[in-house]
Amino acid sequence: MRGEPLASPPALTPTLSRERERRQHEAPLLQVDGVSLDYRTPERVVRATHRVSFDVHAADRFVLLGPSGCGKSTLLKAVGGFIPPVEGEIRLDGRRVTQPGPDRIVVFQEFDQLPPWKTVKQNVMFPLLASRTLGRKEAAERALHYLDKVGLAKFADVHPHQLSGGMKQRVAIARALAMQPRVLLMDEPFAALDALTRRKMQQELLALWDEVRFTLLFVTHSIEEALVVGNRIALLSPHPGRMRAEINSHGFSLASLGGAEFQRTAQRIHDMLFEEEAEAAA
Ligand code: ADP
Ligand code: MG
Repeated sequence: MRGEPLASPPALTPTLSRERERRQHEAPLLQVDGVSLDYRTPERVVRATHRVSFDVHAADRFVLLGPSGCGKSTLLKAVGGFIPPVEGEIRLDGRRVTQPGPDRIVVFQEFDQLPPWKTVKQNVMFPLLASRTLGRKEAAERALHYLDKVGLAKFADVHPHQLSGGMKQRVAIARALAMQPRVLLMDEPFAALDALTRRKMQQELLALWDEVRFTLLFVTHSIEEALVVGNRIALLSPHPGRMRAEINSHGFSLASLGGAEFQRTAQRIHDMLFEEEAEAAA
């Protein structure tokens, strides 16, 4: 049947339509499905997150954003297999997560996550050896490969105390990537760094992602960092954390910092967080 000419479809870049197509065919890599998480103390039960759901696809840079205390770290620990949900389920490749495993590696905020008596290279090799993923020779090769990727090949034989905070975080990232996890989990990894180093680390993380295309689940309470690092953002309400909104941020990068669209989106997110606080106070 011929009718009026159809309005032209919304312009989609080829990458974007391919991306949509891929998503329709591929099951999510990680599914967080109605997950509630509690802490039990002798006096009471503290609910950290309430029925949180989101899907992470392969090569996503998925950010959990929310105010301090909203349960971001707890969620990440649950994905890591360290805390069982009291409600709902977490699935990786369709299989229920019940315990920690080498397919999910966490990078923390603290600089002291590297045993100080091991050299940089030994630190990166350690999980590969401990999990019997590789033998000594292959582990050393892979460690050097990823140390090179984070620009620290020259520092392979020094000890962590000789490194700056940013360099220690690079080692932690190399150590995590060397395990080639299905999902890399990062809990405010740059929060303790000075502003300039933090910016540089964000830039390097994105460059690394461009090269390696790992799947990232990244926690932050910084709106700006979420927009820069993530392609998708889950906005969590204050304590106990509930899903407030999911925001598509793949159009933003370090280059968009300070731009009008970036500011508008940051403001919109800020308002959503603020609204929730005002509601909670009422
Ligand atoms: P975020 O990482 O978003 O700042 P957390 O996941 O650390 O938040 O904490 C979520 C909530 O759970 C907070 O209210 C916090 O006080 C509580 N909480 C965290 N760890 C424990 C614990 N070990 N025992 C009891 N309550 C906890
Ligand atoms: Mg936290």
